[in-house]
Amino acid sequence: MIKKTLFVLAIGLFTFKHSMAEMLPAALPVPGGIAIIDLKDDFNEQAKAYFGKKRVLTRKVNNAWQAMVGLPLKIKPGIHKIFTIDTRGNKKHYPFSVANKDYETRHLTITNKRMVSPTKKDIERHYKERPLILAALKKWTEHENVQTDFIVPVEGRFSSIFGLKRIYNKQKRIRRHTGLDIAAPVGTLIKSPARGTVIRTGSYFFTGNTVFIDHGQGLISMYSHLNKTHVKAGQPLEQGQAIGTIGMTGRVSGPHLHWVISLNNTKVDPKLFLPKDVFK
Ligand SMILES: [Zn+2]
Repeated sequence: MIKKTLFVLAIGLFTFKHSMAEMLPAALPVPGGIAIIDLKDDFNEQAKAYFGKKRVLTRKVNNAWQAMVGLPLKIKPGIHKIFTIDTRGNKKHYPFSVANKDYETRHLTITNKRMVSPTKKDIERHYKERPLILAALKKWTEHENVQTDFIVPVEGRFSSIFGLKRIYNKQKRIRRHTGLDIAAPVGTLIKSPARGTVIRTGSYFFTGNTVFIDHGQGLISMYSHLNKTHVKAGQPLEQGQAIGTIGMTGRVSGPHLHWVISLNNTKVDPKLFLPKDVFK
């Protein structure tokens, strides 16, 4: 009985601690979500945390260290673990549990044949561009003070959610939507949701004009289908600084921003980085 009470009390305190000021990102340990794991007191700046082979973001909140882990859409619900290594090589394991999440399925019909089945030339182009995109998304930069409380990058309508299972033209293959779409008129300004540095900009077959921002410690954001790009590789950015405008370049059916967030080289739900009142 006492044990049970203590447990409830601990959960209560945990919820209280995390709701005082809205802590972002919100913890949501499900496939495509984020696990926030409290680390022991002996963890410090020099120590490192890993999820499998991938280094994960660590931060100090109210004098306590935490690891922030991006969970792949393909992860199996159940117990998983991260580990930390200190400067003397001592390892410590931290188990955490991943719950299930059912994502919606949507059947879509596209009449433009090239959108459904790209030509051989399109595919060749895509295979040349893919390594550049993957390299940007897995970038790791040491950073002491990563900004994780994001603002919405563009005013508009949330037109497609992260994780959606999409089936095109009754094909058997399910394609997951690994970003959050925000629809707005062509030319609407897109702002950097947090401070960071531009990794690269470019034009790609699927994503059109695209900007990649490094926020530090494996937190990367990506902006696709832009009309104009206002920034250059290597440029430092403040929260709210304009990076480009809404467009419909690449493989799109209308003007929108396809917004991707990658954490430890894992695409996660961008919604978790935004204040809750944005979605009211
Ligand atoms: Zn999208």
